[in-house]
Amino acid sequence: MPLYDYKCDACKTQFEQEHSMSAPPVTTCPHCGQEKVRKILSTGGVMSGGLSRSPASSSPPPCGMGGGCGSGMCGMS
Ligand SMILES: [Zn+2]
Repeated sequence: MPLYDYKCDACKTQFEQEHSMSAPPVTTCPHCGQEKVRKILSTGGVMSGGLSRSPASSSPPPCGMGGGCGSGMCGMS
């Protein structure tokens, strides 16, 4: 999972949060609880110009291997 850098404008706390690309960004500061958090660009990221659309990296979990899918969501039932 990618690691994102956030900074709270209220208490100036800077922190990192790991979550998937499809997950909503963090808006609430874990330190002061205010919704003053904004995402900052990580210096270690790849700056290739322009917004990089997320590739098909969020592959679904493997099914049909005893993973307890069975709900027909993977289309492999
Ligand atoms: Zn804060």
